[in-house]
Amino acid sequence: GKKSLNITVLGAGESGVGAAILAVKLGHQVFVSDGGPIKDSFKAELDAAGIEYEENGHDKARILKSKLVIKSPGIPEKAAIIKAIRQRRIEVISEIEFAYRNTDATIVAVTGSNGKTTTASLIYHIYKKAGLNVGLGGNIGNSFAKMVAEDPKEIYVLEISSFQLDDCVYFAPYIAILTNITPDHLDRYDYKLENYVDSKFRIIQKQEKTDHFIYCADDPETLKAFARKKIKSNAHAFSYNHKVDDGAYWNEEQQHITLTIDEDPMNIEDLALQGKHNAYNSMAAGMASRLLNIRKETIRESLSDFDALEHRLEPVMEIHGVEFINDSKATNVNSTFYALESMKKNLVWIVGGVDKGNDYEQLIPMVGQKVKAIVCLGKDVSKIHTEFEGVVETITDAHSMKEAVTAAYKLATKGDAVLLSPACASFDLFENYEDRGRQFKEEVRNL
Ligand code: ADP
Repeated sequence: GKKSLNITVLGAGESGVGAAILAVKLGHQVFVSDGGPIKDSFKAELDAAGIEYEENGHDKARILKSKLVIKSPGIPEKAAIIKAIRQRRIEVISEIEFAYRNTDATIVAVTGSNGKTTTASLIYHIYKKAGLNVGLGGNIGNSFAKMVAEDPKEIYVLEISSFQLDDCVYFAPYIAILTNITPDHLDRYDYKLENYVDSKFRIIQKQEKTDHFIYCADDPETLKAFARKKIKSNAHAFSYNHKVDDGAYWNEEQQHITLTIDEDPMNIEDLALQGKHNAYNSMAAGMASRLLNIRKETIRESLSDFDALEHRLEPVMEIHGVEFINDSKATNVNSTFYALESMKKNLVWIVGGVDKGNDYEQLIPMVGQKVKAIVCLGKDVSKIHTEFEGVVETITDAHSMKEAVTAAYKLATKGDAVLLSPACASFDLFENYEDRGRQFKEEVRNL
């Protein structure tokens, strides 16, 4: 068998705990170290597996004795402990890389700035319907390593963030999907878009000729990077703007999407998830399914009976003809752009939170057209005021979700929709975007 190694896992979240569980199962000596407090539920998991851990600081001397460090995606390269580890030339990998090295399963990996969860969930839904032995994890739900340890499958569909790709070495998915690239998290990439783009492209870096790469042909950053990269795998494009030879595209004339592998048209009205962004996600998912030879009937059926995901253009309820929609997951301007674009009603728009360097300008034409009132919620709202004054007649401020929902309901009339699509992070008033979305739904139900 393999040699038992002295391994440190840095960070005890879902990813770190999963990595530790797999490492112990493989017979390694494992120590988990977290610079902050560890959640009780994770402590319980570590205890149950008999894994040693520390919290609120790092035992540097002990950590520097390891042969391998598995780093959680939340820990920045700049952290003092990482610098010390690098100086000692100890190998540092991500949990994704570690799990990958310990499974022979077929990997389907989805990355990109927006649409990862939706696309990965769509693919999983189709694969399940096709009867495949498949697991879904990574950034959503279970860590990849934990699934490898405890729930072995023949295929894993993984949602992968760029942070997770940063410490991948040999990771080579059979099918890699890059949904799109728009500026996000630039603080972690020295404020250079190119670094962020490179990080996303790591998903195909180790792919071979027999692997596949699915990408958006309408995405300028993807195309730019594509031109300067060597790509070994088979590339398949999806597009809304023009016909593609090998991939999927939206056919304006016939109002359907086509997967070119077998010229199988699907009416856009039949897609369960509406909006142009979701047509993209559906095309990517459809392609990923055709590449595993899933029958087109199964793909079509799955794409049309998929349930909306929580916090992503999720319909909440209708009150006196006013529809409420929860898009709390929209934490950047680009995803809000698509949310607004997919709306057919007049809108009262709840926006704001923690601004990550937002530029609202691209939203102006659409906001002018569709938004009758704006309710600003959260810490960073001054830019919203300056950008949309003169574009939208009514702009008011709210200081809690309750205030925001009440104000929005007052501003709406029958036939309108109230859309929570914040374009910002949630950490000013909420624990996370899930908490923000849940509070929204609760306040709507309280009306
Ligand atoms: P991620 O997992 O990448 O954060 P999600 O699938 O959770 O993405 O979607 C988050 C939000 O991003 C959605 O609410 C929607 O507004 C927007 N979005 C979804 N898919 C796309 C896409 N293909 N292009 C642009 N925006 C998208």
